[in-house]
Amino acid sequence: SLSDRLTGALKDLRGKGRLSPADIDATCREIRLALLEADVALPVVRGFISRIKERAKGAEVSAALNPAQQVVKIVNEELVAILGGETRRLTLAKTPPTVIMLAGLQGAGKTTLAGKLAKWLRDQGHQPLLVACDLQRPGAVTQLQVVGERAGVPVFAPHPGTSIGGGENALGVTAADPIAVAESGVAEARARQYDVVIVDTAGRLGIDSELMAQAAGIRDAVKPDETLFVLDAMIGQDAVSTAEAFRDGVGFTGVVLTKLDGDARGGAALSVRNVTGEPIMFASTGEKLEDFDVFHPDRMAGRILGMGDVLTLIEQAEQVYDAQQAEDAARKIGSGELTLEDFLDQMLAIRKLGPIGNLLGMLPGAGQMKDALAQVDDKQLDRVQAIIRGMTPAERDNPKIINASRRLRIANGSGVQVSDVNQLVDRFFEARKMMTAMGRQMGMPGGNRRTK
Ligand code: GDP
Ligand code: MG
Repeated sequence: SLSDRLTGALKDLRGKGRLSPADIDATCREIRLALLEADVALPVVRGFISRIKERAKGAEVSAALNPAQQVVKIVNEELVAILGGETRRLTLAKTPPTVIMLAGLQGAGKTTLAGKLAKWLRDQGHQPLLVACDLQRPGAVTQLQVVGERAGVPVFAPHPGTSIGGGENALGVTAADPIAVAESGVAEARARQYDVVIVDTAGRLGIDSELMAQAAGIRDAVKPDETLFVLDAMIGQDAVSTAEAFRDGVGFTGVVLTKLDGDARGGAALSVRNVTGEPIMFASTGEKLEDFDVFHPDRMAGRILGMGDVLTLIEQAEQVYDAQQAEDAARKIGSGELTLEDFLDQMLAIRKLGPIGNLLGMLPGAGQMKDALAQVDDKQLDRVQAIIRGMTPAERDNPKIINASRRLRIANGSGVQVSDVNQLVDRFFEARKMMTAMGRQMGMPGGNRRTK
């Protein structure tokens, strides 16, 4: 899958201290193949890759992230951007009813979506009305009525058996003219104070001019506030040409991707926004009414990248990281001036990231801390914190003065054994010695910018 291939491409970067241009080229080649294989449109792939390359080479120097993490971050940001950046909300009419028209090929999932959207709106306190304008396919009206019943939303339809007012609808529409039905449906909504009208339309198996003309006719009759182009995410390469045909033939203001639960390869999602310039607004992920959500570019990018955990970590690492603090610490480490106060700061910074066991290895600069903190769990960390808090500022600043009587006082004050205090102080001196040696090796101060 796209996700596996992307993860694979980025995995090769792990453990590299520095990325050579060759590393970046190789990774970009892999990403390019992964995207093409997932049916992403070629121009979209080209643009994507060139942006990644440029940014990776210009490597925004981030003190918080190692090179591999930086590339993951760049790829993720570009994915979010290509998927539309921010979530786009539904535009509601200033004067109700808001008219939402659905357009798309037959089988794309329009009627199913009509029900989902109706329920979603109803759950938000709206009073939607569904209007059945697919008079082409036998059973299409009944299908919408079933869907409407499930959603608890009435359906305006041209036939007897309509759910409004028992037999015939109020305006007595029976003619099998989808444009007339659409108009009457909106009039009905206005008369009965429904505030949103969802117009379900017919589709064909392929793009044809009659279909487009009908959809355009309905559009002109009801002047929708939103026209949603419903797109089956599984149609692969055809997604782009279909989207272009509907953009030119009917025009739309947003896209709904359906069947994202299937093994869609992701290409449609990545291409459609870029090619049509219109945002993806909703995602459909199954046949049931609940299988539906607002489309979130960032979540989709995370899913495509298949690296949810790494992304979360990157975000957190950047939050916790304070460049100035890091520089100070680096200078102190280089000159062997690290105090217990710094030591505690380090631990607390690391702790902010959550359960420390699985995080230490991923934090740049944590390498040196790792040995010092090896096998420290949260409970022990609490104790370390208590002990250091139990020291005077002078003791924290210059741990050498912590003699036997001070150790006893600190132990009593922080509710631990003297042996715990001994252990902590020993560990601190060891860590400081190690870090100082390492810092010298790397030409600190200033050399190892990643060490906090
Ligand atoms: P329409 O012709 O555009 O109105 O499409 P329908 O709403 O009738 O849907 C066509 C088929 O796709 C039906 O069998 C739906 O149950 C199914 N379907 C629609 N949306 C989804 C979805 O998000 N996931 C899955 N798995 N099936 C869907
Ligand atoms: Mg339908």
